[in-house]
Amino acid sequence: MKFNSTLESIKSYEAGKPIELVVREYGIDKADIVKLASNENPFGCSPKVKEAVRSIIDNMALYPDDSMIKLKNALSSKYAIQPNELIIGAGSDQVIEFAIHAKAHQGAAVLMNSVTFAMYEIYAKQVGAKIIRTASREHDMDEFYALYLEHKPSIIFLCTPNNPTGDAIDAESMLTFIKKIDSDTLVIVDGAYMEYARFKDPKKAIDPRELIAQFENVLFLGTFSKAYGLGGMRVGYGIARSNIIEALYKVRPPFNITTLSLEAASVALEDEAFVQECIADNFKEMERYQAFAASKKIAIIDSYTNFVTLSLPETKNSSKIAQELLKKGMIIRDLSSYGLNAIRVTVGTSIQNDRFFELTEPLL
Ligand SMILES: *Cc1c(COP(=O)(O)O)cnc(C)c1O
Repeated sequence: MKFNSTLESIKSYEAGKPIELVVREYGIDKADIVKLASNENPFGCSPKVKEAVRSIIDNMALYPDDSMIKLKNALSSKYAIQPNELIIGAGSDQVIEFAIHAKAHQGAAVLMNSVTFAMYEIYAKQVGAKIIRTASREHDMDEFYALYLEHKPSIIFLCTPNNPTGDAIDAESMLTFIKKIDSDTLVIVDGAYMEYARFKDPKKAIDPRELIAQFENVLFLGTFSKAYGLGGMRVGYGIARSNIIEALYKVRPPFNITTLSLEAASVALEDEAFVQECIADNFKEMERYQAFAASKKIAIIDSYTNFVTLSLPETKNSSKIAQELLKKGMIIRDLSSYGLNAIRVTVGTSIQNDRFFELTEPLL
């Protein structure tokens, strides 16, 4: 069967291997498997969220509240914005899809960093857009601007902090850049790890309210999958001026968020203390990765997220190391598909990290 020809150049997204698959393929006990591959919060979510979800477990027959008003109100007060400046997606991934489908088209240019979140390219290719990438590994705003002038992209992606490298753009240089961009170019600021960056360094913190007050062409993305510990619930959001949100609504399917997910995300926002404790622990544990890398003379990228990226020396092969670790029940991310001889490891609990050091030590 012939399919839409725009699909020909698309490679399906390679997700972090699920624990169940490692159990089946390697016959390892589920209890012995550690997954540090998808940047989930190793402590999960607030206990209050679990209680709230249990309390509505009998509400599964009816369609969810498609106005999503409880979650929209909670997010509106968190960010001091209006509910009509918000759209909720099944993960911020879905908001990326909405934005590309609403704005890009066949032949349009979409500009992004050399190494960045893989879904931008996948969605852009679905509409036949042309992918333009910078050369430098970290976001270089001068390079972005030169490519903007050359290609007049319909969408520019800025991922800060960036996945899979962990570095973050200085807020000031990003704002200076956006000021120079014409108002018909949609600038998407993906803040999937913004909670971590804000904790570590205020100079990297982007405030969505200020962003949309200042710019009419910006969409900020946030998610509950990372710091809020709700990866399994699939909830993310976009914040922009209401006319952008209205356009995104036209490509949104109805009832895209389940009742349980809406409740979980709303209640998660009521327990910021839990999230902040997890973030504090994350950066404490990250110091151990820095020490480990130093002891092995391995380059580690300064990370503003809940993961670390270890660049391996030429004598080591990232795919082989990821494979060796997998056999022992340790799931991490090989970055060879991004053109890097590097591995990305989510910072886990202290015990999970001990296991990573113990298993990786003999391989490096
Ligand atoms: C994880 C991630 C997302 C989206 O996650 P969802 O689970 O779909 O909300 C978006 N951008 C980046 C950079 C990410 O790492």
